[in-house]
Amino acid sequence: ALTPVVARDDNARARLSRAGSLRALARWQSLSEGAAPLVCGTVQLERDEGRSAALAGTLETLAFPEHWVRQVNRDEASALAGLPLARGGVYFGQGMLLRPDRLIESLLATDGVTLLPGKVARVGRAGTGWSVRNAAGAELARADIVILANAFGARAVLADSGLLDPLPRLAQMHALAGEVTLVPAQALRGGPRCIVGGEGYLLPDVGAGCVAGSTYVHGATEARIGGEGQRVTLDKAAGLLGGSFPDFDSLEPGSLPGWAGWRAVLPGRLPAVGELPQAPGLWLAVGYASRGLSWSALMGDLIAARLAGEPSPLETDLAQLISPR
Ligand SMILES: Cc1cc2nc3c(=O)[nH]c(=O)nc-3n(C[C@H](O)[C@H](O)[C@H](O)COP(=O)(O)OP(=O)(O)OC[C@H]3O[C@@H](n4cnc5c(N)ncnc54)[C@H](O)[C@@H]3O)c2cc1C
Repeated sequence: ALTPVVARDDNARARLSRAGSLRALARWQSLSEGAAPLVCGTVQLERDEGRSAALAGTLETLAFPEHWVRQVNRDEASALAGLPLARGGVYFGQGMLLRPDRLIESLLATDGVTLLPGKVARVGRAGTGWSVRNAAGAELARADIVILANAFGARAVLADSGLLDPLPRLAQMHALAGEVTLVPAQALRGGPRCIVGGEGYLLPDVGAGCVAGSTYVHGATEARIGGEGQRVTLDKAAGLLGGSFPDFDSLEPGSLPGWAGWRAVLPGRLPAVGELPQAPGLWLAVGYASRGLSWSALMGDLIAARLAGEPSPLETDLAQLISPR
């Protein structure tokens, strides 16, 4: 799911996520069906009445256009989702549903992209650029510009290449495991018509079921799906729903399909993107945490603009905030 953030002080995260979602839509909407985002909207439920009232004030102050974000009561939220929901909240008309597998496949098929499978252990200077090597020391690639976009894996590559010391924020990057669960759509009367977010999220049926997410497992040694995690995702989904769903209530945690993976998290949950000051030609695009879809298109364009000497698609203060350090 790709849903922008709103914040009372319109902070950096909110501004970045707004720029990121607009860029993602612009970049990806012309991709083939299945790979392109499905703009289905997001109903983001508020935790309680107090938060709803505070949010109303925020939306009034920030004066966003209604088609971008507007407040909705419980009845409107339920009508948008096509299912009874627990509370009202805000509706983002441009909330997007994506199939990461199809999106990635489609982007990799772009002209000029060559895929060379391999696990990178180190990068080192080579002539005017950089050499990329595996653990056995074999050179996998050599180029004037190298961009590490391997999430938490970048920390080890930088450390083993002797490049991490001047980067205290990156040294604090950690990996946070989590899982999502596929709920049969018939257990949810066909599932919601739009993304439903709040404490967790529930997504429209993508053919294989409705994704219910997600868990946050600190200190995990592996990312895996299981009964414990499915109890959490199903409980979170139940907390978003209002009314009764007997088929959903009778689902057995641990019996459902799902997906587990890792998030690469940096302090402040903002990514690190840009050229390494101490290593010209070596770039980073990592630390996307829980919002890879919100950041990736914008960060790709930010790097491309810098490399091509074009105007930045991002305000200077935001670009500085996420520069690797
Ligand atoms: C349960 C869960 C639910 C999520 N839900 C959402 C959501 O709804 N919306 C959203 O926007 N985001 C979501 N996220 C977050 C999203 O998955 C990440 O933000 C995103 O995957 C980050 O993209 P990335 O390419 O930076 O890293 P990754 O997707 O982690 O990809 C990094 C790749 O680099 C490879 N790699 C690592 N080290 C090396 C190396 N040394 N050499 C070669 N390759 C290497 C890895 O194998 C991997 O393929 C979720 C995450 C989890 C865990």
